[in-house]
Amino acid sequence: MKLTFYNTLTHQKEEFKPIDENLVKMYSCGPTVYSYAHIGNFRTYIFMDTLRRVLKYNGYKLKHVMNITDVGHLESDADEGEDKMEKAARKENKDPYEIANYYMNIFLEDMDKLHIDKPEIITRATDNIPQMIEYVQDIIKNGYAYETSKGIYFDISKLDKYPVLSNRDLEDQKAGARVEVDPEKRNPYDFALWIKAPENHIMKWESPWGLSYPGWHLECSAMGRRFLGEQFDIHTGGIDHIPTHHENEIAQAKGATGKIPAKVWMHCEYLQVDGGKMSKSLGNTYTISDLQEKGIYPLAFKLFCFTANYRTKLNFTFEGAYGAQKALERLYDCYTKQLNGNDKIENSQLEDYRNRFKNYINDDMNMPGAMSVVWEIARNERKSKVLAELLLEFDNVLGLDLKNAQNYLDEFEKNKKIEDIPEDVKKLIEERKKARENRDWVKSDELRDKITNMGYSIKDTKEGIIVTKSK
Ligand code: AMP
Ligand code: ZN
Repeated sequence: MKLTFYNTLTHQKEEFKPIDENLVKMYSCGPTVYSYAHIGNFRTYIFMDTLRRVLKYNGYKLKHVMNITDVGHLESDADEGEDKMEKAARKENKDPYEIANYYMNIFLEDMDKLHIDKPEIITRATDNIPQMIEYVQDIIKNGYAYETSKGIYFDISKLDKYPVLSNRDLEDQKAGARVEVDPEKRNPYDFALWIKAPENHIMKWESPWGLSYPGWHLECSAMGRRFLGEQFDIHTGGIDHIPTHHENEIAQAKGATGKIPAKVWMHCEYLQVDGGKMSKSLGNTYTISDLQEKGIYPLAFKLFCFTANYRTKLNFTFEGAYGAQKALERLYDCYTKQLNGNDKIENSQLEDYRNRFKNYINDDMNMPGAMSVVWEIARNERKSKVLAELLLEFDNVLGLDLKNAQNYLDEFEKNKKIEDIPEDVKKLIEERKKARENRDWVKSDELRDKITNMGYSIKDTKEGIIVTKSK
């Protein structure tokens, strides 16, 4: 069956054929670890996960690289402002490496919670400095870069065409640009490959251009070439990467190797919140943990993401998320019912389901379509183990941990019991939690006694606090 993806580079859906017959080489732009990743970021990583899973379902092996940006990503994609890592380090009064480790670990934990399969290679920008220096040297050698007092810049006028991914008109934008153009730059859209470090910049390395650090766009080009070679199959990212980050990656690769690095460029549209942008000032940059605190499981958020195609905007509301939580419960429930059923299902029926599911996922990952087949099976009047097995097969693409459905159902049941607890007891539980966080064991014990006297027993487990009504 044909597998097609929309390619941002050619502006059309194309049949996918990897360069090597069986192995797909893929690069995904990973997070900049200066803060908690929010649910918008995770929509893009869920898209990346589904793509991996669809490729595997089609029988391909993967060599997939995702970077962790821990230096060089300035506040604006177009070389303006401070390095995000250094800014966060100053704000939190920590070392930038400490900041990077902390947020990277939480990012990886959240990936696990979402059952996002880990790429074969996850690499940090700061572990690739020699390869990055070499990449800049190649660009200079081929005559595509020049040095200024601030760093090494890419000369876009040397390219046959810029931009190639988007149709934006540079002349138009130049006229309306608010940013003052650096007078040392040859062209306003020239961008920094390598940045000379100011005195107070902590992350910097010896290089042919003095103590300095890489530009964000350059990092991805160098890591891609190091692990996947000059040309690979697929490059992914968020839609905001199209106009600058990926445009500049392509420019750099043309400068260094004469080739566009990936054949297919795929981009995930934005997740909005309440119909608008997510932003720190609006207080709506929710994390996966924020959702969990409100009783929404990470996998319910994943299911929520499947309600729209990755190339359309998706609007997050708590109402929608609670709906997804209910849907996840229903799916697990249907699956366990199928698992225990003995009704007869024709082979032709199974084949029809399988064909329709595969048709959807192979049509540029049409997940809403694929989910319509999943629900049809889940809700089939006939209950049969073979339908459960088919759902489990499809879960290789969905990654919703169906095989552990019963454990989730038990957990949901337990949580519901907690919801029944009266407000004053809940308050005491909260107070006790705080006392324990402050290592105030005396107060914690006092509160436990109070809770017990009110008819509830409390148990501290690895998974969290379990509260039950005493008999
Ligand atoms: P960053 O860590 O800022 O580089 O972002 C990580 C990834 O999340 C990038 O691929 C972005 O394109 C993507 N991203 C950022 N905001 C959103 C959003 N609201 N919806 C979907 N993806 C996003
Ligand atoms: Zn990148």
